[in-house]
Amino acid sequence: MATQPEKLKIIIVGAGLSGLGTAISCSLAGHEVVVLEAAPEIAEVGAGLQMTPNATRLLQHWNVSKSFWAKGAEPTSLSVHRYTGELLAHEESYDLKMRQRYGAPFTDMHRADLQIALLDRAKELGTQFFLGEKVETIDFAKPSVKTSSGKTYTGDLIVASDGLWSRCRELMLGKKDEPLPTGDLAYRIVLSLDEIQDTDLREWVAKPTVHFWIGPNTHAVGYSMRDGKMYNIVLLCPDTLPDGLAKQAGSVDEIRTLFKGWDPILTRFLNHVKKGVDKWKLMHLEQMPHWVNDESNLVFMGDACHPMLPYLAQGANSSLEDAAVLGGLLAKLTNKRQLPRVLRLYERLRKERGEAIVRETFNQRRDFHRVDGPEQEARDRQFKSKLGKDLGTDAFPSRWTCPQVQPWLYGYDAIKEVEDAVRKNPLFDDGTKL
Ligand SMILES: Cc1cc2nc3c(=O)[nH]c(=O)nc-3n(C[C@H](O)[C@H](O)[C@H](O)COP(=O)(O)OP(=O)(O)OC[C@H]3O[C@@H](n4cnc5c(N)ncnc54)[C@H](O)[C@@H]3O)c2cc1C
Repeated sequence: MATQPEKLKIIIVGAGLSGLGTAISCSLAGHEVVVLEAAPEIAEVGAGLQMTPNATRLLQHWNVSKSFWAKGAEPTSLSVHRYTGELLAHEESYDLKMRQRYGAPFTDMHRADLQIALLDRAKELGTQFFLGEKVETIDFAKPSVKTSSGKTYTGDLIVASDGLWSRCRELMLGKKDEPLPTGDLAYRIVLSLDEIQDTDLREWVAKPTVHFWIGPNTHAVGYSMRDGKMYNIVLLCPDTLPDGLAKQAGSVDEIRTLFKGWDPILTRFLNHVKKGVDKWKLMHLEQMPHWVNDESNLVFMGDACHPMLPYLAQGANSSLEDAAVLGGLLAKLTNKRQLPRVLRLYERLRKERGEAIVRETFNQRRDFHRVDGPEQEARDRQFKSKLGKDLGTDAFPSRWTCPQVQPWLYGYDAIKEVEDAVRKNPLFDDGTKL
């Protein structure tokens, strides 16, 4: 006979993508979920997001609204160009290959569409949201959190999904732990089809594809979203922001100067940018020794424990994996006393993978950003040796198609991970044994 989970009260700090994913997975697991978000409203912000099969399979599993999928754009090809425009790599039928290989789509979305879909699903499942509630302190003995409005929320488990500048992280470590610059920054540009008059560019946007242009210390990526009605461009280059400043307005002139002489098609897109674009310092954090506190009532996920360069588009995707594994394990819990083991198992399943993805994003930077010279020439020879051919099994400089990296990134199934781990783990044989 199937055992019923013992109901926990779970307090999630932060309603970013990892917090929203966790609200869904823990509600589906039968627990009472409360989300505390510092912002006064869950604003529909941001630009594009590439959703890879390791995360879209979870959105399918969580049953997010059908209308959500219509807002994506599945790229029919993925290409890498040298910054001059020369083609280095091209994979046709990328959309079909992704579905065939991994059983779930690769789709490009506006971040707001994902956020709304997750929020709606979490609310439908009974998650309670409290906005304008910034967590300031945690009493680990209870556990409870106190917010800046003076309210206290008590539960059985606190989930730290409060992002890069995590207050929960500082409270667990007992010291300030500020993010570190990676040395790069990102300009994020969104163009709607209505803003584009150029017929070639309109066609380019209407037929979803992904393009990378790679140059010395810099690269650009462009892709369609909203069913080919919007285009997202991210420009990644050396960080020139002053220390301590995470975001600043950038001018149209500065991006045109930075990308002068790049592929004419990219230049034509950049010529359509009429207003200033924000630039974001890309930050990371030192690895934490543990993602669970000694009292086993605080657990970390998403950018709060593994922020990464966006060069493999895995920040949000991997945070949804975290959410699915935690919720999946908590669905198996039959007794509160199992919580320490459940959390240790979560850490064992997730920490190594999260940190491996972080390292891989830095490897992708190295390979995309090579300065002109012998190493860049060798890389481009390797790229071009495979143009029009099967990639075989060798490593490839673009991890987006690399036969050695893509399978472990996109093939990961968080639901299966939980089922396999639970089968192997004696924890769940006897609900009362500790
Ligand atoms: C240029 C760029 C492009 C990217 N592209 C992609 C992509 O294509 N695919 C992808 O998967 N990822 C991408 N990412 C990464 C992705 O956006 C992040 O990894 C992801 O959004 C992290 O989610 P999170 O929920 O962990 O953190 P956040 O989104 O930062 O959410 C944290 C939340 O916690 C709240 N909060 C903070 N402190 C408190 C507190 N004390 N009390 C209560 N609430 C609090 C915040 O207000 C916020 O709502 C990109 C990132 C960048 C910069």
